Amino acid sequence: MTFRPFVLLLAVLLLAPAAGAQTSQRQWFEGGPTPLRYEISVTPDAEAATFAGEARITIESSEALPIVTMNALGLTVSQATIDGQGVGFDTDQDAQTLTLTLTPRRPLRAGRHTIRVVYSGVIQDDAYGLFRVSYQDDGVTKRALATQFEPGDARRLAPMWDQPNRRAVFALTVTAPSDQMVIGNMPAARTQRLAGGLTRTTFADTPSMPSYLLFLAVGDFERVTRDVDGVELGVVVRRGETHRTAAALDAGEQSLRYFTDYFGIRYPLPKLDMIGVPGAGGFGAMENWGAILYFDQYLLVDETSSEAERQNVFGIVAHEIAHQWFGNLVTMTWWDDLWLNEGFASWMAAKATEAAHPDWNPWMAQLTDGTATAMALDARTGTHPVVQTVNTIDEANLAFDTITYEKGLAVIRMLEAYVGEEDFRQGVRDYLNARHYGNARTEDLWTAIQAASGQPVLEIARSFTGQPGFPVLTVTGADCRRAPDDAQIAITQRRFAMDDASRTGERWAIPLVARRLGGGEQRAVLAGLAATTLAVGDTCGPYLVNAGQSGFFRVLYDEANFRALTQRFGQLQSVDQLGLLLDYWAFGRSGDAPFTDYLDLVNVLPADADPIIVADTAASMAAFADYAEGRASEAAVKAYGVRTLRPYMERAGWTPRQGEGSNAANTRATLIATLGALGDEAVIAEARRRVRGAETLPASIRTAVIGVYASNATTADYDALLAQARAASDFVEQRRLWRLLASASDPALAHRTLALTLGEEIPRQLRTQVIASVAGAHPRLAWEFLVQNRTAIEAMLDPLQRLEFPTGLASISSDPAMVAELEAYARDFPEGARPTVAAATAAIRLRAETISERMPAVEGWIAAHQPRRRAR
Ligand SMILES: [Zn+2]
Repeated sequence: MTFRPFVLLLAVLLLAPAAGAQTSQRQWFEGGPTPLRYEISVTPDAEAATFAGEARITIESSEALPIVTMNALGLTVSQATIDGQGVGFDTDQDAQTLTLTLTPRRPLRAGRHTIRVVYSGVIQDDAYGLFRVSYQDDGVTKRALATQFEPGDARRLAPMWDQPNRRAVFALTVTAPSDQMVIGNMPAARTQRLAGGLTRTTFADTPSMPSYLLFLAVGDFERVTRDVDGVELGVVVRRGETHRTAAALDAGEQSLRYFTDYFGIRYPLPKLDMIGVPGAGGFGAMENWGAILYFDQYLLVDETSSEAERQNVFGIVAHEIAHQWFGNLVTMTWWDDLWLNEGFASWMAAKATEAAHPDWNPWMAQLTDGTATAMALDARTGTHPVVQTVNTIDEANLAFDTITYEKGLAVIRMLEAYVGEEDFRQGVRDYLNARHYGNARTEDLWTAIQAASGQPVLEIARSFTGQPGFPVLTVTGADCRRAPDDAQIAITQRRFAMDDASRTGERWAIPLVARRLGGGEQRAVLAGLAATTLAVGDTCGPYLVNAGQSGFFRVLYDEANFRALTQRFGQLQSVDQLGLLLDYWAFGRSGDAPFTDYLDLVNVLPADADPIIVADTAASMAAFADYAEGRASEAAVKAYGVRTLRPYMERAGWTPRQGEGSNAANTRATLIATLGALGDEAVIAEARRRVRGAETLPASIRTAVIGVYASNATTADYDALLAQARAASDFVEQRRLWRLLASASDPALAHRTLALTLGEEIPRQLRTQVIASVAGAHPRLAWEFLVQNRTAIEAMLDPLQRLEFPTGLASISSDPAMVAELEAYARDFPEGARPTVAAATAAIRLRAETISERMPAVEGWIAAHQPRRRAR
């Protein structure tokens, strides 16, 4: 699965299940019969939001059984037999089970049996189970159906053993209107015309697979296909949208070829469809085997798509296709190891991106996006080990978080860099070949890679995945003035912490690369708490630890080396420049080094710095402005940000250049958006001129330019944009415009936007995203709106989002009073959501502390670095 939009939106939300919750029992089947084959037949009624179902399940039991229990949820059973004999049946909604009871004197004997259950179920309006989406097509409301089962909602379609290690063959049959297209995991094997304009379609048997990968879609679709080395790659979209599928087909083709080569195993199914549906849910896309589901904005690319949107589509397509092997062909045994599934797919997506689009520089981009976010969360209260105990489906749902995806990815990246690409790949291939069509645990992969490489992979992997947090290395070099030839450096480790509760005593086995500028390199694994001494090169010039930035740790240098690196900053590789900036930004916040060290680095940024570094600096300038809000320094801090970024904007210009590259185009958009937010009058005036003049905006800057106009909107501007949002009919465009409209900085306009979320005008799935967008400029306003309209807003959210959304909204605040308000709001939250709330309150406290403790030094530095007045 790919990420939850709320997390993308707020980038600060952490969800973590309760560590070792004593009360919850493992919600899974240990013994009992084994399902071998499901024949599931469903007849949906999209208008009535119900379906009729019948399941024939072949099971095998090694012992005699008085009862048979499987999962079922929200199903109304009318009939149940085993081997043709009627049996008692009882559903338990709390346990999410269906129990079939045999006569006590005639239990089910050991061997093979066939269960038949006749039932009905419900079609959801939110994206889980079998669900429906509505959309407008030339003024006609149409409906499409799709399924979303991970982690535990396949049991809403049919009774089954709904856990990842109960693999079975699925034969799905659907009866649907003849003028609609039906899509399953496999191609159709049989179709039969029925009376009443209906067609019954039976899909070919799937390979043995876990239930969460089962898929069905029904709708007025069109399908475009491309042959990729014998695999039929399809993109399935609403009728009339095929002109937006070319990028997805290209991404699909490139990913299929890349992964087939990497894994050394052919894609195992005859076809691979990518299905786009309008709307939004608690996820972006889902890797159902042979039938990947996407919400449109993560699949469709057209002439209005920005570079960021294009890159995002490629990354998500690659992530989901990586799962077709890693996750689908070999599946985690239980949700404890979800991180391996998701971290690995995210890591492979970056590798596929690097192969297809090296100019996008995905590893560097990953450092500023995912890795920095994961590290910030992992240094505070509320984090959890990557490998965690998951007992229930609710806990499994909560496990799809930033730590799982982003720390998971970064740890895998570090291990690959340590053992080398070839040996790592050989280990992955050995792992997949040994367990295909089966299940595995995390340690099975490390064991395979350790065997392939002969390196102590297990020790490193366990230390980074089995405990919370990550290390900061404190590095001290020999005094070069006293001993010019002494190239020794001493390294110690401790946990990197942003709050007192996180200053705990873990230690890690850390693979590191130390390098002198223009000199030698030294690799080592740092294991204990005592200082490790390394000789790096044979001179005493400046050195880097974590050269290449593949390690999941931060590095704090002694003053002399930090100053030497600052002086020669422009000579460092771009990725190491970025690494230093990210480390010293984090130290500025944690207090390990003064924030002015970070500013000293910004001061020496090269004029031709990599676009990703410029974008990262823009984000820092925006953060400083945010911290300064309402303080006496606000205008000076914003002006400093404008001064820092303007040379890069002048260099980039407003007009895209031929062949400039995707990242350069992306960074231009970031600069426009950030300078606009910092109050750069020239940028605001230019954005207004272009939007008010109804100029056709290049796609790469369109969202940024409208964003500057929208956040500075007058009432007339707002009304004009509102009219556009109302007139938009495509969900992707509706999503952009409504969220932009919500960014207005005028509080009266923000009130108007909030009020609109309670009406019917904004598409249903967008309403809470709009509230979250308002929170960007008006955190308190949005929060109070949530509190006042709690019942109405909860009705827009699924049960999990009811926990995520308020915590995410509160966590972007810097007001210490918000801590108590969130705690009061969350009083009735389930025990499992406690760490989520704790993480949000830790984020609020940290931001408040950054402002009160760290900003004075920043303000002093900025005052001392005012631009020199010209001599008279
Ligand atoms: Zn995934």
